[in-house]
Amino acid sequence: YSKGRGRNAFHFFKPEMTAQATERLAIECGLRGALDKEEFSLLYQPQVDLASGAIIGVEALIRWNDPQRGLRSPNEFIALAEETGLIVPIGDWVLHEACRQARQWRDLGLAPITVAVNVAAPQFYRPGFIQTVGDTLAAYGLPGSAIELEVTERLILETRNEQLELLEQLRRLGVQLSIDDFGSGYSSLAYLHRLPIDKLKIDRSFICDLGTHSGDATITETIIHLAHDLGLTVLAEGVETEAQRDFLQSRGCDSFQGFLFSEPVSAEAVTQLLQAERRAPTSGQTAA
Ligand code: C2E
Ligand code: MG
Ligand code: MG
Ligand code: MG
Repeated sequence: YSKGRGRNAFHFFKPEMTAQATERLAIECGLRGALDKEEFSLLYQPQVDLASGAIIGVEALIRWNDPQRGLRSPNEFIALAEETGLIVPIGDWVLHEACRQARQWRDLGLAPITVAVNVAAPQFYRPGFIQTVGDTLAAYGLPGSAIELEVTERLILETRNEQLELLEQLRRLGVQLSIDDFGSGYSSLAYLHRLPIDKLKIDRSFICDLGTHSGDATITETIIHLAHDLGLTVLAEGVETEAQRDFLQSRGCDSFQGFLFSEPVSAEAVTQLLQAERRAPTSGQTAA
């Protein structure tokens, strides 16, 4: 990095680099033992149908209770887990834990919600991943429709022709596939009709400026139309205000996720939400 910049440059950058490298090593070291020490947990954020107001799914979001530093958000360690390959065992654990929880909700006789799981590229394209998904579903007696896998635009874009079969296999299992943070980068519309995907999740950055930037409103409307024209469903991420929700509803968006309805919460809290919903069906227009 500092090669060729001369000695002074090297010395100038050294303290910062060292601090970063030390921090990185500490995280990596902690991550290596975290699975065995059961330091990971999942929170779940409800996904809500815009027409009925009912909870139709939850997204599983990992947390790491790092004994050195307290609760860490995935933004602090997922990238490193991907670089080191640790994402593979961590991702397997997430899939298992999400399926175990999905089983428990079904056993409680609650509405059969879909549990969405984030999947990183190195996990997705390792040999045997689809088999792992199928085995995990079977282990908990779940149909494929019990889960949804969220992948990035980038992963989809980098899918080679010979890997398309993998996506088809997932589809045959009945597992739904959604594109996370849609519109945030690497956008190429060419892949959309070529691949067996079910849902677009509109990136939070467009939603948060809905009221202030008319450009974001236009993009959001365009993504909603695009999804529907392609026969996909569409969910808006990061909805924080009623104005944002009303806008999305008026534009025909199917569902949303965001602090307006709920932050990511514990499985027990989701159970309570679902139980409350069963007692008092949603006030929405299509309440059963
Ligand atoms: P994501 O998949 O796009 O998840 C949504 C993120 O937005 C979550 O952050 C969630 O807490 C946050 N969020 C939801 N609603 C709102 C809102 O109304 N306002 C704001 N400001 N934020 C909102 P979180 O839990 O910190 O996760 C960050 C990212 O880490 C996720 O983004 C996902 O890319 C990654 N991630 C989380 N869990 C996993 C996992 O199990 N495996 C992998 N590979 N990645 C994960
Ligand atoms: Mg996600
Ligand atoms: Mg997202
Ligand atoms: Mg994101």
